[in-house]
Amino acid sequence: MVAYLERILLDTDITNSIDLKGSIETGGSTVAASKDFGYLYSALPLALIKPSGAEDIARVIKAASQVPHTTVAARGNGHSVNGQAMTVGGLVIDMRSTEENHFQLLSIDGSPDYIDVSGGALWEDVLTRCVSDFGLAPRSWTDYLGLTVGGTLSNAGVSGQAFRYGPQISNVMELDVVTGKGDITVCSETQNPELFFGVLGGLGQFGIITRARVKLQTAPDMVRWIRIVYSEFEDYTRDAEFLVSQKDGESFDYVEGFVFSNNDDPVNGWPSVPLDPNHGFNPALIPSTAGSVLYCLEVAFQYRNGDQPSTVDTAVSGLLKGLGFVEGLKFQVDLSYVEFLLRVKRVEEEARANGIWETPHPWLNLFISKSSIGDFDRTVFKEMLKDGIGGPILIYPLLRSKWDNRTSTALPDSEIFYLVALLRSVPEGPLVEKAVAQNNEILEWCIKEGLDFKQYLPHYRTKEDWKRHFGNQWTRFAERKASFDPMAILAPGQNIFTRTHHS
Ligand SMILES: Cc1cc2nc3c(=O)[nH]c(=O)nc-3n(C[C@H](O)[C@H](O)[C@H](O)COP(=O)(O)OP(=O)(O)OC[C@H]3O[C@@H](n4cnc5c(N)ncnc54)[C@H](O)[C@@H]3O)c2cc1C
Repeated sequence: MVAYLERILLDTDITNSIDLKGSIETGGSTVAASKDFGYLYSALPLALIKPSGAEDIARVIKAASQVPHTTVAARGNGHSVNGQAMTVGGLVIDMRSTEENHFQLLSIDGSPDYIDVSGGALWEDVLTRCVSDFGLAPRSWTDYLGLTVGGTLSNAGVSGQAFRYGPQISNVMELDVVTGKGDITVCSETQNPELFFGVLGGLGQFGIITRARVKLQTAPDMVRWIRIVYSEFEDYTRDAEFLVSQKDGESFDYVEGFVFSNNDDPVNGWPSVPLDPNHGFNPALIPSTAGSVLYCLEVAFQYRNGDQPSTVDTAVSGLLKGLGFVEGLKFQVDLSYVEFLLRVKRVEEEARANGIWETPHPWLNLFISKSSIGDFDRTVFKEMLKDGIGGPILIYPLLRSKWDNRTSTALPDSEIFYLVALLRSVPEGPLVEKAVAQNNEILEWCIKEGLDFKQYLPHYRTKEDWKRHFGNQWTRFAERKASFDPMAILAPGQNIFTRTHHS
């Protein structure tokens, strides 16, 4: 009890003693920061800090360093699923309060190629402002854009453009970072490179990103969004790998895909494929050789308003020519580039209206090398998950050469590897435990079979697991931690390092 009281007193001191331009909230308003998109974990912080910028964040970290056990968690948009942006009894920094900072187009060498944005900005706002103000857009995205710049850069940020431009962490030139020592630092490939590359994919362990300089390109006006169905996994992977290996200008601008159940289940089966409610999916076209699951390749072709429809048709037909999808099972719509990038926002709006957005999300995201993906298909897709998971199962190839080995994200070994994402939505209750157990079963199976894979958006409980995850990158990761956050104040929700008392 004495220790408990001492803690309360210390805690009260800390929140009263930080002199900020922004605000500190305690009590009921901290509840929002105790949850995340996963609805699996909850941790109540002592206080929710709404900083005005990097100086406030530095003050908070320095104050926290004076109080034993106190940790600091940057919270982007809280869209982690395993409590990664939480702290038990520590200080949560709400990065959204800084979202308006820094927004500035930069003209380097005479061309406006970069935008400076806050680490707390949402990608959807970066998109709409860049396109409407300048006709420009970042090159690499995530599927859903209600995520912060700092949140996705702390992981990687992947979507259907990553095969060409690399993940989002391959598309930033410079960062402002407040380290775990409370130092405000500018870093890039040439200035403080160890911090720059450490922070990219660094799970928030080395510093808090307050500004990112993001590469831009001219935004197209329109997108033709196409889905084609495959019955055989080998055909699907052959075509997907072919498309991502073509030169710029000789392939689609976006390549993704998913697995779905070979039945009429509205969420997991055939009805999940068409892009328009008026499109019908004719199951009679599925070859009789098809198994328990089918595969859908999702591609997009970008064009300008001035392009003739016949030119677009010819270009798209040329790109589809020779692909081995099931004839007749092709679906397409034309929509604006911004609508295309905001496509998951429409899904969110619908799910919110149906009350199924705020529900547990026991997700599992993996990077699996080309050499292991066939085994994964045979056992996991075709058997374990054949009836679906109550949400999309993404699978699409990425190229390792588009990633920078100096960043912190752990990847499998081969040049071609697949993102596999089990994006489950599960009603509260016993089904949640069942889904988590199935995720663990899949992970255990991957380890037992010796698959070349890594977790993406990783979640582990012990340091041993983290060491295994990083493999030969562990030493570098731990050395970076010792340099930039030696007391392990930052991002405690990742469960990698334990807060120490000495300075
Ligand atoms: C619906 C949905 C769709 C998604 N789609 C994709 C996708 O297509 N591709 C993809 O790659 N990912 C995707 N994700 C995963 C997403 O990229 C990560 O969960 C990301 O961390 C969420 O961003 P956030 O701003 O909510 O971060 P948070 O969950 O708030 O934070 C994540 C971690 O980063 C740290 N952090 C937050 N901000 C900063 C900062 N400024 N500086 C340093 N550390 C910070 C936090 O402390 C925490 O450890 C998706 C997630 C959801 C919920």
